Amino acid sequence: MKARLVLLPAPGSGHMTPMVELAKHLVQHNFSITLLTMGPAFPSSSSSSSIASYIESVVGLDITFIELPHVDLPFDRTKSAMAHLSLFIEKHNPHIKNAITQLKFSSPSTPIHALVLDFFMTSMFDVEEELGIPGYIYFASGAPLLALMLYLPTLDAKITGHYKDLEGEVEIPGLPPLPSLVLPEPMLVRDEGYQSFLSHALRFPKAKGIIVNTFAELESAVLETINEGRCLPDHPTPPIYPVGPLIGVKENPEMSSNACIKWLNKQPLASVVFLCFGSMGTFPAAQVKEIALGLEQSGCRFLWALRFRSGEGFSMPSDANLDEILPEGFLDRTMERGLVWPSWAPQTEILAHPAVGGFVSHCGWNSFLESLWGGVPVLAWPLYAEQRLNGFLLVKELGLAVELRLDYKGEGLVKGEEVERGVRCLMGEYEEGKKVRKRAKEFSEIGKGAIEEGGSSFATFKRLAHQFAQGT
Ligand code: UDP
Repeated sequence: MKARLVLLPAPGSGHMTPMVELAKHLVQHNFSITLLTMGPAFPSSSSSSSIASYIESVVGLDITFIELPHVDLPFDRTKSAMAHLSLFIEKHNPHIKNAITQLKFSSPSTPIHALVLDFFMTSMFDVEEELGIPGYIYFASGAPLLALMLYLPTLDAKITGHYKDLEGEVEIPGLPPLPSLVLPEPMLVRDEGYQSFLSHALRFPKAKGIIVNTFAELESAVLETINEGRCLPDHPTPPIYPVGPLIGVKENPEMSSNACIKWLNKQPLASVVFLCFGSMGTFPAAQVKEIALGLEQSGCRFLWALRFRSGEGFSMPSDANLDEILPEGFLDRTMERGLVWPSWAPQTEILAHPAVGGFVSHCGWNSFLESLWGGVPVLAWPLYAEQRLNGFLLVKELGLAVELRLDYKGEGLVKGEEVERGVRCLMGEYEEGKKVRKRAKEFSEIGKGAIEEGGSSFATFKRLAHQFAQGT
């Protein structure tokens, strides 16, 4: 009989996609999977990956989706996005507990062997203890953020005041000295959002294991430091399972009927620079105009996924009205070599398409893995969450990205000339870009090899599957 696992993704594609990919790999190891899903944490008027599309992607596999009851939590604009997300998740806890209890007692002869929690779902560890089911964390970012999260309680005791005001660099075991500005956004100010971030970090040692969406060859030094226990000096470090890169890639991206792909099918090999800034990334109108100017002057082919936010304060991006926000005549002048897509784009397929040769990115972890998969180098323009940390390390440590602006905070414009130069460099006009392009190709092969039979992540998966099957 198959062992059962319950997976708990946090809302948002950056969390759902890697969890669904984990589920697909786990069914290959003969597990039966149930995914408990929540509605969106933030109201959105723009199209994005829906639960229905995830369900469609697992047809025929032993994966069941259960939608949790709806929780209504209006967004309080005085709170940070991190504080809202944590509260939204916590409000689901009674529903999650009910769902797991029902699953447990509906089929007592097949016990639930493990709960796999997104790293923003650690408040469920209390429930896990009550129900007597081993709980694991699935960490949908890289080893550097994991090192930082494990070390955060130590750092919190060492450092007083706001991290954003720190002079000098922050020392985290396994990482190079970090300028305080590249620390994750929820850490910079010690507000309610920081306290939720810290409370997740404090619960990490409770995990029976931490599964990470990376691969040993990419981040060997930092993974080794974590395994040696240097990031978590006061507790035993849970076993770490690097199982990546797990991305929602489809076979033959050229076959898709999406308009972006059809357009890419007509472009020469590795000639197009793709611009896309994650689930939340947008720019003010003046910055959009500078990007347009830079693209126009670069002379490069481009595919630009451009969404927009109107009004003050936090809101989710909406589909863009191109006539309103682009410079007059831009679309006509660039129609022979550019496509602006005003909505959610099929990013994974785009980055796997042979016509794409560069990616201007906010450096979200999933976006990075997707570009790595396609062997596409990155021009780093981090915007929020842990993206400045990712961008900094991609540029300074891994040599997989060229810097556009690592300390962009939404104030001051990145001028058209900078965008132009960055894009030209990314597409291989300068030595720096050439090196990064070569490395991206090399790591693409290594990453793909890691999850194939005989690869490092494949071996880790086997170890993890064995651990799950024990039910301890
Ligand atoms: N994404 C997409 N189309 C878009 C924007 C984003 O498919 O137009 C996907 C992207 O492929 C990635 C996810 O949304 O899988 C974003 O995750 P990431 O970790 O890169 O960033 P974040 O969640 O912080 O935005």
